[in-house]
Amino acid sequence: MSASPGLNATHDPQLRSWVASANAGGDFPLQNLPFAAFRRAGTGEAFRGGVAIGDQVLDLGALHAAAPFTGAAAQALGACCAPALNALMGLGTGPASALRAALSAALRTDAAQQGLLQRLLVPQGECEYRVAADVGDFTDFYASIHHATTVGRQFRPDSPLLPNYKWVPIAYHGRASSVRVSGFDFHRPWGQLSPKGATQPFLAPSRRLDYELEVGIFVGRGNALGTRVPLQEAEEHIFGLCLLNDWSARDIQGWEYQPLGPFLAKNFATTVSPWVVTLEALAPFRAPFTRPAGEPAVLDYLDGEGVRRGGAFDITLEVYLQTPRMRAAGVAAQRLSQSNLRDAWWTPAQMLTHHTVNGCNLAPGDLLGTGTQSGPQPEQGGSLLELSAGGAQPIALPGGEQRTFLEDGDRVTLRGFCAREGCVRIGFGEAAGTVLPAVPLAGGRLRGRGQ
Ligand code: CA
Repeated sequence: MSASPGLNATHDPQLRSWVASANAGGDFPLQNLPFAAFRRAGTGEAFRGGVAIGDQVLDLGALHAAAPFTGAAAQALGACCAPALNALMGLGTGPASALRAALSAALRTDAAQQGLLQRLLVPQGECEYRVAADVGDFTDFYASIHHATTVGRQFRPDSPLLPNYKWVPIAYHGRASSVRVSGFDFHRPWGQLSPKGATQPFLAPSRRLDYELEVGIFVGRGNALGTRVPLQEAEEHIFGLCLLNDWSARDIQGWEYQPLGPFLAKNFATTVSPWVVTLEALAPFRAPFTRPAGEPAVLDYLDGEGVRRGGAFDITLEVYLQTPRMRAAGVAAQRLSQSNLRDAWWTPAQMLTHHTVNGCNLAPGDLLGTGTQSGPQPEQGGSLLELSAGGAQPIALPGGEQRTFLEDGDRVTLRGFCAREGCVRIGFGEAAGTVLPAVPLAGGRLRGRGQ
């Protein structure tokens, strides 16, 4: 491994854990140690912080009661007793890093604390999760130039990218209330549709339901209203990354998005993975931030030596689809695409700095989405809108099925991982969700479950 900034003893590829499953090549080796809010499934237990190790969750709430650590690590561990991790995130990167170092030492082979920690492991198969933080605000960026170009071309063949795209990190304010953790199944949304040939719009269930393959960015330490976060400090304000599916109803979107942007096409559900991988865990997987020759220079406030040297992240991102028929036949989910966050037009730090350049305040647990991450090749589209060319080219699935957009019962799973020679592979787990049939209209109003 080359000497990259930010590497320390917790990244040593030789480290092994006394939790045997952590050494088996999965998403959660000792070098990862991502955080989630969890409890034993089917119990009324309070949610609390947990860290993934192999196929287990280490119960950080219970660990805190045993007071095994001191100093900043103990402070961070105390913050993990809450049902959401906002307090941990708000402590900033120092205490979280101290906790990571203490956990790494306690979970490695021959650790003196093995006896204590062993009693505090819960198999992941017996756990349920909530969104890692109470998300106060959700902002979704648009940071893949490949996605923006392909989608833009469908609407404006001659000028797919608007003139601002290469200069300003484009985003819109999303809806925090409908962010849900992996496993949340939602009903196909209704909305106003106005398809080609219709004489006037009408209300109907979306016929062009889609996913978006994104990375979520959990804000760590916040900034006060009226202050800005300079680029060189931006990563001190980022707790970690997760997987994010920004479900999108393309037909609702197409009719409503002008002039103010996405609204009901996007706010009915957003799925995140339960596990948040810290930026520290991602240190071995940094990549230079570069722009192709001839592209406009980055404005000074979004430029710097640090971002150029290693501002990007080498994270492989994947989408899997399983239809009801595949599920019934025991056919595994099919991978639809693979892309990499390294190809994004902006880095997470640039997004955060730009978000605050006008003095906008971010709070611990706020969620930023990177926007759909598509690669440069057509088969690397991070949405069905791209992979099916706007519905014109159906995608072939096992058993002779086809898809242009999602059908009822379809299950979409996002995965992500980092793999590099000389490093131990780390993963993000998954963000999965299933599309349920639209709820019928009754008596002129929407009837939901429980009403
Ligand atoms: Ca999006």
